[in-house]
Amino acid sequence: MEKRELVIIGAGPAGLTAAIYGKRSGLDVLVLEKGIPGGQINVTDEIENWTGVIHASGAELADTFRKHAEHFKAEFRETEVKAITVDGGRKVIHTDGDDIEAEAVIIATGASFKKLGAPGEKELTGRGVSYCAVCDGAFFEDQEIAVIGGGNTAVEEAVYLTQFASKVTIIHRRDSFRADRLAIDRAMSNPKIEVIWNTVVEEIVGEDMVEKLVLKNVRT
Ligand SMILES: Cc1cc2nc3c(=O)[nH]c(=O)nc-3n(C[C@H](O)[C@H](O)[C@H](O)COP(=O)(O)OP(=O)(O)OC[C@H]3O[C@@H](n4cnc5c(N)ncnc54)[C@H](O)[C@@H]3O)c2cc1C
Repeated sequence: MEKRELVIIGAGPAGLTAAIYGKRSGLDVLVLEKGIPGGQINVTDEIENWTGVIHASGAELADTFRKHAEHFKAEFRETEVKAITVDGGRKVIHTDGDDIEAEAVIIATGASFKKLGAPGEKELTGRGVSYCAVCDGAFFEDQEIAVIGGGNTAVEEAVYLTQFASKVTIIHRRDSFRADRLAIDRAMSNPKIEVIWNTVVEEIVGEDMVEKLVLKNVRT
């Protein structure tokens, strides 16, 4: 079985940073990634809170992170980790390829999109329901788009979507956003954005594509 000193699972910002530290400490580092190195920032339109970089697209920043880790000769492998077994000090990583034994494992598998859990969501995913504005926004040119949520991602993505949509409606279950002030100001001053407060989506309705949302005001 292949034996490595340090195996890092996930090549998002955390995994790539760990790879840089591992290599600089003189370790043999293997990074396992099931998708594209960079993780969630690959689907981020603009990043302006990374110190030292005033503005970059997520993909640009992901590219610099990956190049930084490659500069220190971290090895990358495209594979999905299915399980890890620990037997005493022995750690075996089971991938969709061969198993790998590692002296140390860093799990940096990040996060995945949070589902709404509303009826119709699963059936209409890819048919009007999307979790990534950068990936899918352009498919909805001149259409009305609803963004559900009230944090930074929802508010920033709503602004991003105004370049395609005829109108963007943010549906938020509370009466104020949790997003950064700057992001809120940009959204609230955008004439294409409307906000429906204190409201949740009860159902997503449509035959082949999303046609309408059934909303419920949580206050009335
Ligand atoms: C739309 C959007 C906009 C954002 N905007 C900003 C922003 O402007 N500023 C900011 O600071 N943050 C932003 N974020 C958040 C930021 O992207 C995350 O905080 C950051 O990516 C987390 O890094 P991570 O390495 O922990 O995890 P992730 O980025 O989630 O990376 C985890 C990696 O692990 C891989 N992986 C998972 N499971 C396995 C497995 N079993 N086998 C192999 N590989 C696996 C995944 O494919 C992924 O590449 C945004 C996020 C989104 C979704």
